[in-house]
Amino acid sequence: MIRISQLASSVKPSATLAAGAKARQLKAAGVKVYDFSLGEPDFNTPQHICEAAEQAALAGQTHYTPTSGTPEVKAAICKWYKSFHGLDCALENVIVSNGAKHSIHNALAATVGPGDEVIIPTPYWVSYSDLVSMTGATPVLVNTTAESGFKMTPTQLRAAVTPRTRMLMLNSPCNPTGTVYSRVELEALVDAMDGADAAILSDEIYEQLTYGNAKPTCIATLRPWLKDRTITISGASKSYAMTGWRMGWTIAPPAVIKAMDAIQSQETSCPSSVSQAALVAALNGPQECVAEMRKEFAARRELTCGLLRQLPGVKLPVPDGAFYAFFDISSYFGKTFGDKLVNDSLSFCTALLEQAHVNFVPGVAFGAEGYVRMSFACSRETIERGVKKLKDWLGTGS
Ligand code: PMP
Ligand code: GLU
Repeated sequence: MIRISQLASSVKPSATLAAGAKARQLKAAGVKVYDFSLGEPDFNTPQHICEAAEQAALAGQTHYTPTSGTPEVKAAICKWYKSFHGLDCALENVIVSNGAKHSIHNALAATVGPGDEVIIPTPYWVSYSDLVSMTGATPVLVNTTAESGFKMTPTQLRAAVTPRTRMLMLNSPCNPTGTVYSRVELEALVDAMDGADAAILSDEIYEQLTYGNAKPTCIATLRPWLKDRTITISGASKSYAMTGWRMGWTIAPPAVIKAMDAIQSQETSCPSSVSQAALVAALNGPQECVAEMRKEFAARRELTCGLLRQLPGVKLPVPDGAFYAFFDISSYFGKTFGDKLVNDSLSFCTALLEQAHVNFVPGVAFGAEGYVRMSFACSRETIERGVKKLKDWLGTGS
């Protein structure tokens, strides 16, 4: 028998991907599933981006590229940061990886390890704590609540910092809550880290998806000293509907990029050459496609919030960014649905999927029991019908 390593035994499978796989299984068995689990735009990648990839492949750009990405793709990233956020960066500040999840993994592997503490406000994206644990470092969770808009305060942050703190992970706009910190709130948080010997890893992958008056902030631009202390992560999956292309990137001081380059060179070599060509087209090309998708997400957000608000016992803080509704369903705990007692977010989601074929991700996977996450990156019709199914099912509880 082959033994499974300690590392693999300590890692939980991604709850979001597991929820997506469950729905896929049911669909394959012919069941109509209202699947709100995966955070994945339903739009296809815009045509001009696909065409750039096709042309690159036909022109022979099918070989290994430099491990950290081609000069063209890094230049496109630098140009985009200058125009979108006013951030100055050079090619030596950039590494492209196989999706932002890979970027986060490599950034953590390059900077933290056993004995180090990494502060993560909850609710957090499912993979953060496992990615930290995989390095041997310890995730330090700071709980936030719906009452504070799921925002960590500087006082909470200061209380979590110890001599072992090596990193703070931030994610604004946030998956799963949709929380967007204001510039002033972020300034107060980073100032609370000024005296600590710690980096800030800022995952800004939803930066192009904010609604109403909410504005994204690139943390590295907030204070002059942050350029040397910040690891900025982003990617093409969400803004450009490019999940399958696996394009994520990191902007960081050259020493961090060099360390990540060494890790990546032993681990995966370069990211896909064809995907890099597609990313150049995405960042340098027309941006109307992003605006159109954002407009549709904004309409779906209105629809989703309006419908969920009408459900008895459901409490929903309005998401200002990303494409998730994260709502409190704890008033249903203790009730029986069919033959199933629901007493936590996992049993709620399991019974809901089995009995009504509506698929959410349990809040516990994001470090927030009592909640579920609904992705509204799907058609308005699916949202309307799925929430109606949810409403009818909630009515069956006794
Ligand atoms: N960060 C956050 C907050 C996310 O929601 C995701 C989900 N896709 C990622 C990173 C990783 O994205 P990808 O690997 O597709 O670039
Ligand atoms: N980030 C998305 C989500 O939270 C996609 C799945 C994943 O990468 O875990 O659902």
